[in-house]
Amino acid sequence: MTKTTAQLLDGKELGKKYLKDCADELAQLRSSRAQLTLATVRAGKAKETELYFNYLEKLMGGVGIRLAPSVFPQDVTEDTLIEEIRRLNRDVSVTGIMVFSPLPKSSNPANLFDHISQLKDVEGRTFLKSHFGVFSPTANAVLALIESAAADLRGKEAVVVGRSDLVGKPTAVLLMDKLATVVVCHRETRDLKMHVERADILVSAAGRPHLVKGGWIKPGAIVIDVGENVVDGKIVGDVEFETASHRASHITPVPGGVGPVTNIMLIKNLIRLHARQQVKNGNS
Ligand code: NAP
Repeated sequence: MTKTTAQLLDGKELGKKYLKDCADELAQLRSSRAQLTLATVRAGKAKETELYFNYLEKLMGGVGIRLAPSVFPQDVTEDTLIEEIRRLNRDVSVTGIMVFSPLPKSSNPANLFDHISQLKDVEGRTFLKSHFGVFSPTANAVLALIESAAADLRGKEAVVVGRSDLVGKPTAVLLMDKLATVVVCHRETRDLKMHVERADILVSAAGRPHLVKGGWIKPGAIVIDVGENVVDGKIVGDVEFETASHRASHITPVPGGVGPVTNIMLIKNLIRLHARQQVKNGNS
C-alpha cells in the first residue's frame, strides 16, 4: 500500500480546541449553579444509537451537562413521540431536545421535528423549516409560479442568482425540498453565464438590471425574475426580457410577475401567524 500524502484532519484535536473555547462559559455556569440539561428522545435500541448515547453521556457528564433520556419501544406511535416532545418543550428544567434517528417507520420525521420548540431546538432541526407554516413570502411566490408551469421539479437543474436571507436562500431551500438540483450564484460566482446556461429553472434575485442576458437562457427553461430595478423611471427585472422570452418556455414579467404573488403569500403568512397567536393566547 502506498503511503498517504493527504494531511489528516484530526477531529479529536479540533474538538478539544472548541471545548476549550467553551470552558469559560461552562465554568461560569457551574459557579452560578446553573444546570444545562439535554433531553434525548429515542425509539428502540439500535446499536449505533446506543453507542452514540453512551458517548454523549460521557462527554456531557465531563463538563457538567445532564442528560435526560426518554426511551420508547421501536413501534411507538408518532402521537406518543409528539406528546413527549411537547412535554419536554414545557419542562423548564430542559435546555435542549434531541430526537435520535432512526425513527419508527410509521412516523414522519418532519412532523416530529416541527413540534420541537425553536427555543429548545439544539440540533437546528427547525432552522430551515417554515415555522408554523410561515416562510419567506417571496420564496413561496417563486415556488408557486414555478409549480404553475411544471408540476414535477425532480432532477431539474435549478439556478438561483442571489443568496439573500429574504429571497435567494429560502428559494434554494424550497427548490431543494422539491428535489431539484440547486446551484446558488452570487457576486463571487466565477462564471455566471455557464451556470445560467445549464438551468432548466432560473430564478434571478440579484437586484441588478439586465444582469442575466437573454441569450444565456436555455431553450425551454422556466425563468422567474424576482429583481425589481428602477431604470429611467421604469421598473425592470434582472433578466433581459425580450431575448429571454423567445428562448424560455415560461417567464415572469417585471412588473406583474413575482410581486403580486408575494403580496398574497404575505397575507397567507399573516393569517397563519394570527391563528398561531390565538392558540398561544388560549382563544381557540
Ligand atoms: P440583496 O439582499 O441585495 O441580495 C442580492 C443578492 O444578489 C446577493 O446575494 C448578491 O450577492 C447577489 N448579486 C448581486 N449582484 C450580483 C452579480 N452581479 N452577480 C451575481 N450575484 C449578484 O437583495 P434581495 O433582498 O434578495 O432582493 C433581490 C431583488 O429582488 C431586488 O431587486 C429586490 O427589489 C427584489 N425583490 C423582489 C420581491 C418581489 O416580490 N418581487 C421581493 C423581495 C425582493 P452577494 O451575496 O455575493 O453580495
